[in-house]
Amino acid sequence: SRTPLIAGNWKMYKTIPEALALVKALLPHLPKDREVAVAPPFTALYSVASCIKGTALKLAAQNVFWEREGAYTGEISPLMLKDVGCEYVIIGHSERRQYFGEVDKTVTKKVNSVLEEGLKPILCVGERLEEREKGETFEIVKKQLIGGLGNIQEIQKIVIAYEPVWAIGTGKTASPAQAQEVHKYLRHLVEEKWGRENSEKIRILYGGSVKPENIDELMQEEDIDGALVGGASLKAETFVKIMNYGV
Ligand code: 13P
Repeated sequence: SRTPLIAGNWKMYKTIPEALALVKALLPHLPKDREVAVAPPFTALYSVASCIKGTALKLAAQNVFWEREGAYTGEISPLMLKDVGCEYVIIGHSERRQYFGEVDKTVTKKVNSVLEEGLKPILCVGERLEEREKGETFEIVKKQLIGGLGNIQEIQKIVIAYEPVWAIGTGKTASPAQAQEVHKYLRHLVEEKWGRENSEKIRILYGGSVKPENIDELMQEEDIDGALVGGASLKAETFVKIMNYGV
């Protein structure tokens, strides 16, 4: 059975004092039998890392560049993320695909370099509304998953996040059945390429308007192993409820 992972993607929110206030409010409420991670902006990683040291709360980054070091003005490397205390790195988020030219080819480079540094990628896939309406959902997520992972060996280090673009920041959650259908398909794709055992172990998170009101029913689906939470991770009150779903 898979350990659930609830991760908060803070996006471009929170100054350092705000970030510290938020993690301090989360720490007393961490659940036992599941993993919880937060992905603050780069500027707050160090302070948050110092604050959560020795606790079960895990640190994630929202993006990365694929080189280890070099003349790449403005970029952050896997080495630097490891150094600051990250365990996870979100890669290929739809906002990066939409606004910053992220494509499957750059996703692959990032996945490989993150694995090389011993960090764990959270690979985001998901269709846009017009793609869903044209019936292309499976085709799109397959292209993103297989195209993004390439021929990696360390599939057991990967976390997949299914985030339908039409559900992100819109308040429109995919229904549990809609999400489950895609999660099941993604697991099937992993089985085809990396075998049964790996497909049974890999965690597939759902993201897109996750809130305290819908987390319970989402988590009841067989192939939903956690959540990648945006807006509702910015407030302790809602994120505490989400990470303690079902209790
Ligand atoms: P919301 O939870 O704000 O819809 O964002 C989801 C998301 O993009 C998480 O990465």
